[in-house]
Amino acid sequence: MYPFSTEAKKAAIEPTKMMVEEIIELMNAPDKDAKNLIEKAYQFGQKAHEGQVRYSGQPYFHHPFETGKYLASIGMSPNMIVAGLLHDVIEDANVSYATLKEEFGTDIANLVEGATKLGHVRYYGLRRHTESLRKLFAATSQDVRVILVKLMDRLHNARTLQFVPEHKRERIALETLEVYAPIADRLGMGLVKRELEDAVFPHAYPKEYKKVQKIFKDAGGEDLRRLERIHKSVRSKIAEYGVKNFQTTNRIKGLYSLYRKLERKEWDVTKIFDLWALRIIVDSVADCYTVLGIVHGEWRPLPGRVKDYIAFPKPNGYRSIHTTIHTGDGSIIELQIRTKEMNREAQFGIASHFSYKESEDLKKNESSAVRWIRQFIPLRLRVEANDHSILKEGPRTYTNGVTPDWIKHMAEMPGIDETDPKAYLHDIKSDFFSHRIFIFTPRGDVIDLPIDSSPIDFAYAIHSEIGNQMTGAKINGKLAALGTPLKNGDIVEILTSEKAKPNRKWIGMTKTTLAKRQIRSYLQHEQEAM
Ligand code: MN
Repeated sequence: MYPFSTEAKKAAIEPTKMMVEEIIELMNAPDKDAKNLIEKAYQFGQKAHEGQVRYSGQPYFHHPFETGKYLASIGMSPNMIVAGLLHDVIEDANVSYATLKEEFGTDIANLVEGATKLGHVRYYGLRRHTESLRKLFAATSQDVRVILVKLMDRLHNARTLQFVPEHKRERIALETLEVYAPIADRLGMGLVKRELEDAVFPHAYPKEYKKVQKIFKDAGGEDLRRLERIHKSVRSKIAEYGVKNFQTTNRIKGLYSLYRKLERKEWDVTKIFDLWALRIIVDSVADCYTVLGIVHGEWRPLPGRVKDYIAFPKPNGYRSIHTTIHTGDGSIIELQIRTKEMNREAQFGIASHFSYKESEDLKKNESSAVRWIRQFIPLRLRVEANDHSILKEGPRTYTNGVTPDWIKHMAEMPGIDETDPKAYLHDIKSDFFSHRIFIFTPRGDVIDLPIDSSPIDFAYAIHSEIGNQMTGAKINGKLAALGTPLKNGDIVEILTSEKAKPNRKWIGMTKTTLAKRQIRSYLQHEQEAM
């Protein structure tokens, strides 16, 4: 797909013709009105930015043009493509909101204004950085489409970073790694995350980049012939067993993702098993498990490496079966088995639910996207926001409307010291962007928590009352100590008594800011009452 192709990477740094037809061709069967709208925005944007030049020496419009093109090719609606083409006209070309509204209507004017707000804050130093992080979330929570425009905008900027003056470059690179890529990840947009990371990695950490590049090469990461051989033999084996309509593709690990993993594995590349992966894309969930059976029958799997993200999806909605096999020629390869739908979602996440079909039924598309987000909104965020309706409704039903609550609450996370931006940033990152585990209630509801959370975190994530009245916990049916670190997939039952109350020692046994804050606040109130 265009934004992720070598063609797009080349177009970012070389002069292009910038023909409006390129955008229209990438759209999914646009009608006459849609075509006219795109053409009008194209003319408008080109005129607005006339005479302006980018650091690269390209005409300024080259940047919004590519942003619009990226949006078109990932299947976004005409309004979103227009917002991409015009996303910088308020900020950089002195076009007013009123003019945009008059020319293009309220929806487009709002999208452009939203994108402008996000880009408006300049990120100098940590204090500003943190503030803009919040703005980013807050604005997003008003309209998820704005973030998709902004991610594509950032992707193009990330690819042209070498032209930006050095003192700005590092800031933009770090911001991309710490803010934009994690958001893309949280929205399930795996491809966007990877492209953002790999585009800015050399600018953010030049020494580390060179080191990782060398390690990758020395480990044979570039030996594509070997990968191709394995690819072929897996393909023919699956076909031999009669699985129909399957596709396979190679995936080579992104260098930034490899860097993060090397850091966790003492820089020992032999401990990394997914340098290469082979994706096997099939028609049905049943076929996924059939293929798993076939490959395990033919090649020796590495123990402990089978991960079933179909039964237990990741917090961002990612679904797939992973396993790692010895290929017989001394290599190891990861297999990722999934359906077409899962593959689309893994690459485009929320955008795959926004995509513009035959009819421009935006409302319908929007609700599908929101439904998709909701399936993995952390329950505790709603509890944290004192949304007690959740307890009556049960955790799987959510309020109507198009606001993805988890993003909104990120912007207003209570209990975190806002005067200390460093701590704030750390809390945001450690609470939301670190790896998470899924814990089940006895009823089968899922709560997602940071790694090493305890039954106390779990109790407070359900409700503060349950935390405050906790007397014990059963993990998988067995009584367990309150500080026991929970493991992915554990079923936890909290035992309560009306007479019970929290203990100060609990604070040290918790991982989440929510639990610590609730315990402190209970103890404080108790003291004041005495
Ligand atoms: Mn821009």
